[in-house]
Amino acid sequence: MDCVAAMTVSFFPTWRSKRRGLTSKKAAPFFGYGLYKKHSLQVEASAGSGGGVGVAVKQGFADEEDYIKAGGSELLFVQMQQNKAMEEQSKLSDKLPPISVGDNILDLVVIGCGPAGLALAAESAKLGLKVGLIGPDLPFTNNYGVWEDEFKDLGFEGCIEHVWQDTIVYLDDDSDPILIGRAYGRVCRTKLHEELLRMCVESGVSYLNSRVKSIVEASNGHSLVACDRDIIVPCRLATVASGAASGKLLQYEVGGPKVSVQTAYGVEVEVENNPYDPNLMVFMDYRDYTKQKVSSLEAEYPTFLYAMPMSPTRLFFEETCLASKEAMPFDLLKKKLLSRLKTMGIRIIKTYEEEWSWIPVGGSLPNTEQKNLAFGAAACMVHPATGYSVVRSLSEAPKYASVIATILKPDHYKAIPGRQINNENISMQGKCWFGLFRIATCIIHSIRIKNIDNECFRHFHTLRDNYTVMKYFFQKV
Ligand SMILES: Cc1cc2nc3c(=O)[nH]c(=O)nc-3n(C[C@H](O)[C@H](O)[C@H](O)COP(=O)(O)OP(=O)(O)OC[C@H]3O[C@@H](n4cnc5c(N)ncnc54)[C@H](O)[C@@H]3O)c2cc1C
Repeated sequence: MDCVAAMTVSFFPTWRSKRRGLTSKKAAPFFGYGLYKKHSLQVEASAGSGGGVGVAVKQGFADEEDYIKAGGSELLFVQMQQNKAMEEQSKLSDKLPPISVGDNILDLVVIGCGPAGLALAAESAKLGLKVGLIGPDLPFTNNYGVWEDEFKDLGFEGCIEHVWQDTIVYLDDDSDPILIGRAYGRVCRTKLHEELLRMCVESGVSYLNSRVKSIVEASNGHSLVACDRDIIVPCRLATVASGAASGKLLQYEVGGPKVSVQTAYGVEVEVENNPYDPNLMVFMDYRDYTKQKVSSLEAEYPTFLYAMPMSPTRLFFEETCLASKEAMPFDLLKKKLLSRLKTMGIRIIKTYEEEWSWIPVGGSLPNTEQKNLAFGAAACMVHPATGYSVVRSLSEAPKYASVIATILKPDHYKAIPGRQINNENISMQGKCWFGLFRIATCIIHSIRIKNIDNECFRHFHTLRDNYTVMKYFFQKV
């Protein structure tokens, strides 16, 4: 244990030191398995690269890109969204057994308890792996929307709380609206959380309520997951599913395109004079509600209204800026939404909830030279043109788990000459599979390169640009 205590961990690596490889740092020889308390950690407190943002603000982030992914200058709103109280959602720690100290090392540690992390942990444990899940015990707070058929195909239809049989898009006042011909559903975040938790319970996932600070490679090839309260969890493989801002735990490719951000401000409200048909989900309303040239700051951003009529009088409205190199701030989105509703004659009587949606899109992919794997938003699995990732993570989880299980399962080693458990092999084979995954992700990124990274599309200034992006909405990726 003292050997573990002696290791040095960079919590806030500089850009260069991160590229050299935070996760490839070797710890001193590691004896035995279990859950360890470190006595001391040397913290390197440099706060990343410069670039106009104060060092103090960026403390806790790997670099500027990581800070932007976390919420940038809108960080407080993003944290408000993440920390909403959802009393009706179960606590993971009430239902999952704690990660135990013992002789049997965990096969896999999944870091992060969002939809991606919970799904991957459950699917991996289902295949017989000894899986530990580590992350803050937080509820799902986002209002997720999905194509109904996609959720049905995954067997998650029981988690949809409202279905609209069709979805409508208004492009402008001159053309007829487009009916997509596809049913859309609003996910019940409590039911989705409950279902994924049930899958974790049934498959035997164990849990630690903690933030992960770093992952260090021990000399025997195992990964040491360093958590809050000086706890270290050893495992054979760690997979990071801690959301988009995972730069402290993962290395991303150098020199890739900069991340863009989709921002949206939403309200669930009771209203008078709702003009929208409650049987249709309004996917995008791009009509110019002002019907005149206005020279306000918010008018410079191309936005659309996303509206879910829950009843003739209760609606969820969200003013959305699909993707921007410079994120549209929430105060401008709010101003534009309220002005739009007022101009349309919609009167808000009661507000049930506000939503601050910050979704990093595009950006660099995780570097495939590292040992640790990534999943969900951490692995850039968010669709670069739409910001969607929930269905993708839920549908990839069984495949991803199956590859990890093939690599880690003892039977697999019986096939290796000498039957030696060789962790180099684990990471190499993980990399092979990750290579395939990377190709798939690159295909998605090529869409981004064509449509988002091009300077002409910097803010999607024209309707035509938005329409190009919109076409990708209707493609399954
Ligand atoms: C308001 C909002 C609405 C959205 N709506 C949709 C939608 O309708 N459809 C859709 O497909 N997508 C939507 N998205 C985008 C995206 O799908 C979600 O962000 C989704 O939650 C990503 O899932 P994830 O599990 O990869 O990451 P997250 O949901 O971000 O989960 C990451 C988890 O990791 C934890 N974590 C963070 N750091 C650490 C650490 N150091 N150690 C341990 N744990 C850590 C966090 O607490 C969190 O629980 C929305 C996003 C937002 C913000």
